[in-house]
Amino acid sequence: MIQNYSQLIERISKSSGMAAEEIDRRVEAKRAKLSGLISKEGAAQIVASELGINFEKEKMKISELLPGMKRVNIIGKVIKLFPVRNFSKNGREGKVVSMIIADETANIRTALWDTNHIQLIESKKIKEGDVVEISNASIRNTELHLTNFSGIKPSLERIEDVKTEKMYFDRKISDFVSGENIRTRAVIVQMFEPRFFEICPECNKKAIKDAEGSRCEAHGKIMPIKRALLTLVLDDGNSNTRAVMFSEGIEKIGIKEIENTEEFLKKKEELMGDELYFAGNVRQNKVFNTNELIIEDLQQLDVEHLIEQLETKTKG
Ligand SMILES: [Zn+2]
Repeated sequence: MIQNYSQLIERISKSSGMAAEEIDRRVEAKRAKLSGLISKEGAAQIVASELGINFEKEKMKISELLPGMKRVNIIGKVIKLFPVRNFSKNGREGKVVSMIIADETANIRTALWDTNHIQLIESKKIKEGDVVEISNASIRNTELHLTNFSGIKPSLERIEDVKTEKMYFDRKISDFVSGENIRTRAVIVQMFEPRFFEICPECNKKAIKDAEGSRCEAHGKIMPIKRALLTLVLDDGNSNTRAVMFSEGIEKIGIKEIENTEEFLKKKEELMGDELYFAGNVRQNKVFNTNELIIEDLQQLDVEHLIEQLETKTKG
């Protein structure tokens, strides 16, 4: 998982020759001046521009990209290329291609909208595994977007070890947008009874129960795998959200035997009020018509945050 802030500070330090600690101090001063109304990342961008650093002319590492950035230049490897899709919007027909671009620091979902760029894909001048140079792109909803003002071309640069694990952007709950991969720091304020269901071991689709046992539409008679689903409510101090977690996440949060009601209730008591980082995908819940987080990963707060918390407590 990424730590945009510390990487951004390192980048500013490298470009300005100023020590990272000093930049961090300036960022905090800037935030204090603005009464904490902006994020650390936002304040860091202001400090960078005050130091005369212009990211527009520099190549960025993918882990350094932040929501809202424009005129982004990167070099990365196409690790996944999705088929060309046709769309029609406001009576206009168009094409779009999605791909995942990776470098040694992170990866990002990227969308190409320009017909010339899509032509490069259709003619296989750019294909999966190729390294490409992207210029003048922008970050929209945690994705990199290339319009007709942007550029993409094959690069001769070699990138060996690319980061293939999913990248998440830090977001407050109130800023959740459906479809985004986000990470949020929040407290567990509610945890509902787990629900259980069975899936096909081949395709992970929900198993169908009948008189003869379990079957899958695609794979016929199967020995299903039992899976658990846990619904939580997360709160970041300003807003809250529903979140759901499947078996892998439930194990990561420390509940080893979810089916054991006694263990579940004991663990639930321990976990209520705990503050963690939750990473995953934001989806629209069609029943409640609200956003919810599909938790894919979770992480303890790092030491820096714990100290920060202690300091606030002591001061308060
Ligand atoms: Zn199946």
